[in-house]
Amino acid sequence: MTYDYIVIGAGIVGLSTAFKILEKSPHVKIVVLEKEDGAARHQTGNNSGVIHSGIYYTPGSLKALNCRKGYRLLLDYCDKKEIKYDLCGKVIVATNIGEVQRLEGLYERGIQNGLEGMKLLSPAEIQEREPGCSGVKGIFVPQTGIIDYKQVCKALEKDIITAGGEIIYNYKVSAISEKPDNIFVTDGSREYLGKKLITCAGLYSDKIAEMTEGKVDVRIIPFRGEYYKIQSTKSFVNHLVYPVPDPAFPFLGVHFTRMIGGGIEAGPNAVLAFKREGYKKTDISLPELLDIFGWKGFRSVMAKYWKTGLGEFYRSYRKKAFVKALQKLVPAISGVDLVPGGAGVRAQACHANGKLVDDFYIIERRNIMHVCNAPSPAATASLAIGEYLAEKVISK
Ligand SMILES: Cc1cc2nc3c(=O)[nH]c(=O)nc-3n(C[C@H](O)[C@H](O)[C@H](O)COP(=O)(O)OP(=O)(O)OC[C@H]3O[C@@H](n4cnc5c(N)ncnc54)[C@H](O)[C@@H]3O)c2cc1C
Repeated sequence: MTYDYIVIGAGIVGLSTAFKILEKSPHVKIVVLEKEDGAARHQTGNNSGVIHSGIYYTPGSLKALNCRKGYRLLLDYCDKKEIKYDLCGKVIVATNIGEVQRLEGLYERGIQNGLEGMKLLSPAEIQEREPGCSGVKGIFVPQTGIIDYKQVCKALEKDIITAGGEIIYNYKVSAISEKPDNIFVTDGSREYLGKKLITCAGLYSDKIAEMTEGKVDVRIIPFRGEYYKIQSTKSFVNHLVYPVPDPAFPFLGVHFTRMIGGGIEAGPNAVLAFKREGYKKTDISLPELLDIFGWKGFRSVMAKYWKTGLGEFYRSYRKKAFVKALQKLVPAISGVDLVPGGAGVRAQACHANGKLVDDFYIIERRNIMHVCNAPSPAATASLAIGEYLAEKVISK
């Protein structure tokens, strides 16, 4: 089984990469290897379904550049494939005077990142757009939308296969070895041989990278994001409603999201998961936990963020605390309006010095590229990341 390109991981980044390689080099032989029995089983299939505008990211960063470019590529692709999306816009709300400066900073950042049509909102204008919402100042971001990324993956799968690519499910890569011109990938029983390798393994991206690089300078820390569904018939929000994020933490804070399939979700929080694919509070993997706690970078993260981390745990176990965070945005919501929803686990890379990796992070060497950090907004940005990886790997 010999291929020009092997891609590991059938999340939205791996599929977009395979799709873009085939778009640019239609006659190559390519295979995507995925350990689950279908695509988008992890981060991609359990995310908030938001098409991010690009307002948050440091200008010039890979996140900022790929979010804006990926946004346009995604909408074009969805138009072509008739995948439903809704650019319903979002409101970011400062709930106290202390947050106003950071909110205004976000507005400036949005301008630097090329967003047009944003509007600063007075308290009355917030209420006009979101009658249930209270705040001292807000930003309306018209570009933000909602979508089901599983549908995008379905279309990508189909396109890859139509273009002659292969996707092999139930294939868990357990080792990778190299000879001068070839890379051998195995699950312990079947072997695939490729000339070039791109790995997009999400929650296991560091482990897969270590298979060819020995030790790598990042480790994935899994942060579970838990959601509640709003069960009430009351419509609490018209758009998406977000708080001003804590700049020290790479997550956006619990927010309200209208879903493309109907209904509203509240969340996600960001709780340390005791297993990389730990979707439930009771999911624990001792070897994975020891591995994370053994990483000196994680211990530094704990030293820095222990207070925030404990707060997230408290909010995870105490619905009242979760509701309290939501009430800052929408005072009328109460516990009876919320029922537990699903959860997703974020793959957040962390450096050995305890810095959470903020930007997308790719390790490349010769004919190998490892995507080692592709957190939000990587679903929005996926086609741009795929294009970037495809161009790089084709030119190698
Ligand atoms: C709770 C949550 C909310 C989010 N909300 C948004 C949002 O609204 N908008 C947005 O743009 N982004 C959002 N994100 C981020 C976005 O979902 C991710 O950045 C994106 O899905 C990453 O895609 P991926 O393909 O890199 O990873 P994944 O989707 O996790 O895919 C990685 C794949 O690799 C496979 N794999 C791992 N190890 C192996 C192995 N050994 N052998 C074979 N296969 C392997 C896995 O099974 C998996 O299918 C959110 C993420 C989370 C968790």
